[in-house]
Amino acid sequence: MTDLSTNIIYLKGIGPKRGEILKSEVGINTFEDLLYYFPYKYTDRSRFYKVRDIKSDSAYVQIRGKFCCFSDEGQGKKKYLHAEFFDETGSIDVIWFQQIKWVKTNIDTKKEYIIFGKPNQFRNKFSIAHPEFEEVEKFKNSIKTLFQAEYSSTEKMKKFLLHSRAVSKLVQTLFENKFELKECIPASILNSLHILPISEAISNIHFPQSIKKLESAQKRFKFEELFINQLSLIKQKKLRQHNIKGFIFKTVGDKFNNFFHKNLKFELTEAQKNVIRDIRKDFLSGKQCNRLLQGDVGSGKTIVALLCMLIAIDNDFQACLMAPTEILAQQHYETVSEMLKGVDVNVRILTGSTKVKQRRIIDEELQSGELNILIGTHALIEDKVQFKNLGLAIIDEQHRFGVAQRAKLWQKNENPPHVIVMTATPIPRTLSMTLYGDLEVSVINELPPGRKPVKTTYAYEKQRGDLYNFLKKEIKTGRQVYVVYPLIKESETLDIKNLEEGYEALKRYFDSTEYKIAMVHGQMKPEEKQIQMESFVSGKTNILVATTVIEVGVNVPNASLMVIESAERFGLSQLHQLRGRVGRGADQSYCILMIGNKLTTEAKRRIKTMVSTNDGFIIAEEDLKLRGPGDMFGTQQSGTPINFRIASLITDVKILQVAREKAIQILEDDPFLTKEENKYLSKKVDEYIKQSWGNVS
Ligand code: ADP
Ligand code: MG
Repeated sequence: MTDLSTNIIYLKGIGPKRGEILKSEVGINTFEDLLYYFPYKYTDRSRFYKVRDIKSDSAYVQIRGKFCCFSDEGQGKKKYLHAEFFDETGSIDVIWFQQIKWVKTNIDTKKEYIIFGKPNQFRNKFSIAHPEFEEVEKFKNSIKTLFQAEYSSTEKMKKFLLHSRAVSKLVQTLFENKFELKECIPASILNSLHILPISEAISNIHFPQSIKKLESAQKRFKFEELFINQLSLIKQKKLRQHNIKGFIFKTVGDKFNNFFHKNLKFELTEAQKNVIRDIRKDFLSGKQCNRLLQGDVGSGKTIVALLCMLIAIDNDFQACLMAPTEILAQQHYETVSEMLKGVDVNVRILTGSTKVKQRRIIDEELQSGELNILIGTHALIEDKVQFKNLGLAIIDEQHRFGVAQRAKLWQKNENPPHVIVMTATPIPRTLSMTLYGDLEVSVINELPPGRKPVKTTYAYEKQRGDLYNFLKKEIKTGRQVYVVYPLIKESETLDIKNLEEGYEALKRYFDSTEYKIAMVHGQMKPEEKQIQMESFVSGKTNILVATTVIEVGVNVPNASLMVIESAERFGLSQLHQLRGRVGRGADQSYCILMIGNKLTTEAKRRIKTMVSTNDGFIIAEEDLKLRGPGDMFGTQQSGTPINFRIASLITDVKILQVAREKAIQILEDDPFLTKEENKYLSKKVDEYIKQSWGNVS
């Protein structure tokens, strides 16, 4: 019996050098890894061609016939072996540049062969270079099937002759050995869901016996992958709940009540109340609260955050609120300070640009406990920021923070604080199940009353005059305008130039005695940015020209127009976020997407989606379909297992749901997977956790 944990270099035909390539390029370290290196597509080999039927656009073809007329051609390094392959309808050329000797001694011109390869047309004749070939007799008996598996191969792999066909050969070699793959899916699940057992599945994924078997095999591995993903997430959550005692916030005291009854100017929406109820329950449960708070842009998450922080303070704990950008941190600081006027709560802000002197005060007050609420950017998670007793940490716009950063917040106290992450990115359910499967989820599914949906249209350059007239009209009635330019990292300077040109153009059109125009972008000094933002927030500035620095969270209810330049260059989620900056007051708001004349099909679909709906969830689903999960979250989510080997978060939603259900069932019975029957499964889960998250949690 071959040991599947054997180092891949010991597989016949690999050796140390190619073994290293397999390891570094695609992570194949062992025999077992090779078995789990699944084909990405299959070519139908049930079909045979006649030579006569080959066309110039034929992809891979398979022909049955005989070889003849071998001859050495070319000179020196350009030497090659030429032969003909014929059937009853004609002949084609076959050519070898390598392994010439081997081919000559191994092909028997009396025997019938099946060849397989991609034909090239040269003058009037077709040729195939390095065809795969096999005697008809052997072909019938061989393990190979009607579907030829294709394996992905990197440039470097190809350089070392590890192209798809070679990988396929290696898999075949492995299959010539006797081995046993252990089954990780519990028998009860295999039976109840009619899942193909591992040995059958692994052989059919590489050498499918039929389409049906292939599909069953794929389904099995998709399930396996998602099942282990869910087990990992849920098990970690259970472990955390087991190991971590949550602070209990018993009282709703003076601070909360004072604020709620004296300062809060509006009635909370039902959705906001429900969410606060959820969180209150967490605070009383004795377990650490780890909750994702989802709410579309403008749904009123900040007030929920503030109320929760007040509860923490009423229970003699400190709270912090972390935002992804300096502008947003500043804005939160101002909003919160303003709302808390007259309530005895000490709030401060800490960002990268906080002055040393100020910083010293913050440090002192944090440690003495005088400071109640600290608002800030990433600066908050630096090790030197030490709280006396942090009881609640809130992260705004979670998608900018990775799992590792979340974990860092927990380490701020001997006993970790409660954690609430708030996101306006409406995450499709499939994604939230795999990204945040370890968090509880609450949703604010209702906007404050009186909001009118933003009207969205698109316009071309030639309509710019009309656009500006429209802006003037709106500004006359007191409205404010955002004009946003795309920013693409690779050419930041170019983009800034773009932005500045746009700014100049606007200034030419909008007379400076009548209109005040400001500009903000990422390369400005924070203080300068702040001055410009404040002027817009206070209503002095009519038009704010900006890059996407305003994307996240900025709240200026009086701004009711959003113009997005080169809108085709933005992703859907980003467009939706930007549009969320308007429609925050009671007035009718507009979003105008300026687009070029030549749009890709995808860009057209994005624009169409934006125009047709305001629903963040529909937009997120569409975005996921268009871009795939990896892109949607960019590299900031590295360390998050969203790139699956075989499962797809777009098409395998059903399988994911079942996998989650089953994972929950298993863990209910055996929370930490310690039972003997789950031993192997547990090993797989631990490996997966290590691979996906390293040591963060
Ligand atoms: P987001 O969820 O995007 O962070 P904000 O918290 O910035 O939204 O809230 C958007 C605006 O709605 C703010 O001006 C806020 O004061 C206001 N708001 C929040 N909740 C309510 C409510 N229940 N009734 C009326 N206005 C509200
Ligand atoms: Mg917000």
